[in-house]
Amino acid sequence: MTEIDRERLARLLAAERGTWTARHQRSRAVLEASAASLLGGVPMTWMAMAAGGFPAVLAGARGARVTDLDGHTYIDLSLGDTGAMAGHSPASVVAAVHRRLAEAGGATAMLPTEDGRAVAAELAARFGVPIWSFALSATDANRWVLRLCRQVTGRPKVLVFSWCYHGTVDESFVVAGPDGPQVRAGNVGPAVDPTTTTRVVEFNDLDALAAELAARDVACVLMEPALTNIGIVLPEPGFLAGVRELTRAHGTLLVNDETHTFSAGPGGCTQAWGLAPDAVTIGKAIGGGVPIGAYGLSAELARLVAADRAADLVDTGGVGGTLAGNALSLAAARATLEDVLTAGAFARMSALAKRYAAGVETVVAEHGLAWSVVRLGARAEYRFIAPAPRDGGQSAAAGDSELDDYLHVALANRGVLLTPFHNMALMSPATTEADVDEHSARFAEVVSALVA
Ligand code: PMP
Repeated sequence: MTEIDRERLARLLAAERGTWTARHQRSRAVLEASAASLLGGVPMTWMAMAAGGFPAVLAGARGARVTDLDGHTYIDLSLGDTGAMAGHSPASVVAAVHRRLAEAGGATAMLPTEDGRAVAAELAARFGVPIWSFALSATDANRWVLRLCRQVTGRPKVLVFSWCYHGTVDESFVVAGPDGPQVRAGNVGPAVDPTTTTRVVEFNDLDALAAELAARDVACVLMEPALTNIGIVLPEPGFLAGVRELTRAHGTLLVNDETHTFSAGPGGCTQAWGLAPDAVTIGKAIGGGVPIGAYGLSAELARLVAADRAADLVDTGGVGGTLAGNALSLAAARATLEDVLTAGAFARMSALAKRYAAGVETVVAEHGLAWSVVRLGARAEYRFIAPAPRDGGQSAAAGDSELDDYLHVALANRGVLLTPFHNMALMSPATTEADVDEHSARFAEVVSALVA
């Protein structure tokens, strides 16, 4: 197998960063001026994490294209890390937002709109759980579902899979270590030690799951049906059925976080693989770029929640937000689901992701690299390990941030954007075969430079 020459990698990365800097002087000037008033010099601190050394400043975006302040246009395979999976500013969403904000008026009035029913009905048909409620982010949807699960089970703990990411949910910052759960490095000011709230096991390990659930103190398992935030780690045959069986046997609720795995199809993995969770959480993509989160409950879980008179669901009980369920988010979500992220769109997006993965695989094979490519519907991602990892721990161990940075900045300098935190590529309804083929050609070029 071909080894990466680290000196060559360092040299190439420095050269690509030099090119990036030279080509982004206007972006750089804006960022320098921002440093005095913005934490980290950017509107959200993670935006500073950029392979080129600093991010391009956004000028505009349409469909599968992003343009920066320096006048460069990119094929966007990042798509806002799924927030723009519908493509940037799809016409139907723009029209719905315009109707709600400008024509009818009233983005936030603390009154329900008809769109709420339509969005809930669409989500129910797709994900199979009938009763829905809304948040402004997937993080909040997860937080609130954890509260509901604790409330109805009377149990204190949650269980997650090692190297998961479910947003900034306190309980989830735990990884499996050799001597039990460990707080994930970098956890900022935790309210409580998350190893006391959370049980954690590796993905695809049913024996470990059974052992943890046997304590019967776990309110719910919060999981992605395939891990997507440490590369893509697919479930092995029988794993998800085993999770469902074990959770039922131990009185533990099962929550599928479909925020990213929505890429698997119109009803995410839950529909594609015939899963039967007690709750589904989602966010990002369903708003077509407008902030929203949502959670759906099974009829039985919704009944238990509603029957509990001690739980304050309408005022200061810890589940809710003033802007949650606002008219603007729901108008955008209705348009996104009814007109943009349709079954037909998913079929086209998945075919494109297959084409993308084949393009990457060809280059990897040509150069004899021990890398693997994994696809989940409309998304695909490569890791520097082969065969593909079977759990988060294995995948994390194969991380190589210098190599990530080189590929990201070299591709960006050639007009292709990948998701900053991953080697993830996502297809939108606006992405074309030509876009994918352009990536394949550029990927071949930057990998050849590395291993030639
Ligand atoms: N769940 C999953 C699976 C995610 O990947 C993310 C974010 N990457 C979230 C939840 C949280 O989404 P948000 O940051 O929009 O709240």
